[in-house]
Formats: sequence, structure tokens, C-alpha cells
Amino acid sequence: LASWVGFSNLPNQVHRRAMRRGFHFVTMVVGESGLGKSTLINTLFETKLYGPKSVPQPGQDRGKTVQIESTSAEIEENGVRLKLTVVDTPGFGDFVNNDESWKPIVDNIEARFDAYLEQENRVNRSKLVDNRVHACIYFIQPTGHALKPIDVEFMRRLHTKVNLIPVIAKSDTLTEEEVVLFKQRILADIAHHGIQIFQPPQYENEDEETIQENEEIISKVPFAVVGSDSLVNSQDGRQVRGRAYPWGTIEVDNEAHCDFVKLRQMLVRTHMEELREHTNEILYENYRTEKLRAMGV
Ligand code: GDP
Ligand code: MG
Repeated sequence: LASWVGFSNLPNQVHRRAMRRGFHFVTMVVGESGLGKSTLINTLFETKLYGPKSVPQPGQDRGKTVQIESTSAEIEENGVRLKLTVVDTPGFGDFVNNDESWKPIVDNIEARFDAYLEQENRVNRSKLVDNRVHACIYFIQPTGHALKPIDVEFMRRLHTKVNLIPVIAKSDTLTEEEVVLFKQRILADIAHHGIQIFQPPQYENEDEETIQENEEIISKVPFAVVGSDSLVNSQDGRQVRGRAYPWGTIEVDNEAHCDFVKLRQMLVRTHMEELREHTNEILYENYRTEKLRAMGV
């Protein structure tokens, strides 16, 4: 098996801890239709995911609200097993009235918290199944202007419940300069609205290489991504994953062309444990505390 994920190369300590707890990582993707969510998921995890296995929520009218679709795969790399789940949310932003597009998504994230809380309250807590969402990739339309009201609303509603990872969708449709400017505007908007996105923590007590790698990841937020599930010819005649244009080829896996590599590196290699820890220790803990308080416990 190709070592396309790299999770078996996690630092030893992290690795051991993750193995002991059982290795399950849940990523959600959200964004308007056609922004390349499905394509990016296939690009991230190649075609090793099975599904989609549709899980309509009770009482939901298919086609009129946001759907929640969960797809899983068990992958193994150098003897390490990882269960990977991707939660897709088709329908977000597709309706005449999108005022409540965020609601089914919040409900789903909270239902997963509740399922975990329920297990914690059992007498036998030796085998907790962790289906909480550890990262939410939010796709921003590559307008080059600013965040749209639906983006701000979604992020405002979600940022206390999930690790938000904003990405600029289809960044091959913008020029390099446009991407740079758009990133600045997005970060300014996010700050202006008091939205907390997932910030890779700054490392201090690490080796030089790790610190530098981490700083490079931080500098790319919000990641400008390009997805593709087909091979094309690169300028120098290699077969690469990318998108071909009359003026040339954009390579998905080329860091000079887009931030896809950095996003994947952060998600499944360098920061998978941090995303899980932040979900457990901060986001879930806050939810749990609120819930118990509301119940008068
Ligand atoms: P979804 O509705 O968000 O799941 O979007 P899809 O993944 O189905 O993609 C919608 C269309 O956009 C398809 O024709 C894709 O080939 C195309 N697409 C996906 N990713 C990219 C990208 O990064 N750049 C460009 N230019 N097109 C893309
Ligand atoms: Mg899709």
C-alpha cells in the first residue's frame, strides 16, 4: 500500500497513544454545491473510501434540507490501522432560504457529542466509540472578494463545536496574487466576526525541522486547495494528479501550485492528535458542561 497518508510516521509517543485509544478520525466537509467537496475527499483519501452510505436523519425530507452522509474506510499503513470517516453535507446553501442551513449540521455534531456522553455515563467505560467530528473543512467560494453572509453565519454557529478548517475551494480559478489577497481578506473577516478557526499551535520544544514544518502549515491558512481525481500530463511530461488548462497544468501535489499537500499533512500527519485532543478537551468538554448545567446537575 502506498504511504499516501503518512499516519504510521507519527512521532512515536503520539503514535503509541493513538494506537492504544483506537485510531478513528472523523472529518466533515461543508460548503455550497459544486465547490469540489466530493472531489477533494477523493483526492485526500484516494479512492479507498467506500460508500457513500446515506444516513438520513429522522423526520428529514430528502432533497429539501441539508443531508448528512457518512462514509468510512479502514486503512492500514505499515501495520498501523486507522478508521477514517468522512461526513459529507450535500444540500448546504442550495435552497431559496438558507437561513438555517447550519442547523442540521450543528444537530449532527451535537448528536455525536451526546452519543459519547451517553457512553461515558455507562458503568463499563472501557471501550468508548469516538464518533465525534474532529475536523470540519469549510469550503469558501473562490470569489476573491470576501466571506459571504452564509459563510460567516455557518462559522459563527459552529466554531465553538468543531475544529473549523476554512479552505479556498477551486483555487486554480484564481491567480496567485488573487489567492494572497483573498486569504488576507478571509482572515480579516474571521477576526472581525470573532470566529475561532483551528490554529495549529506554535511549537517550541521541538526539533528545528518540526518547527519549520509547522510554521509553513500555519502560514498557509486558509488553505487554497485544488482537487482532482484524474491524472493529467505535467509540463515536463509526468503523469500527475491535477487539472489541465490550455495554458498549462495545475498539479494537486505540487506545493508551488496549491496548498493541498499542506492541508493533508496537517490533517492526517502532523496535527491529527491535536485535532482529536482539542475536540475532546475543549469543544466536547464545553458542550458537556453546558449540557449538565442546563439539566441542573
Ligand atoms: P461538491 O458538490 O462540492 O461535492 O463538488 P464536486 O466535487 O462534485 O465538484 C463539482 C465540479 O467541480 C466537478 O465538475 C469537479 O470536477 C469540479 N472541481 C472539483 N474540484 C475542483 C477544483 O479544485 N478546481 C476546479 N477548477 N474544478 C473542480
Ligand atoms: Mg458532493
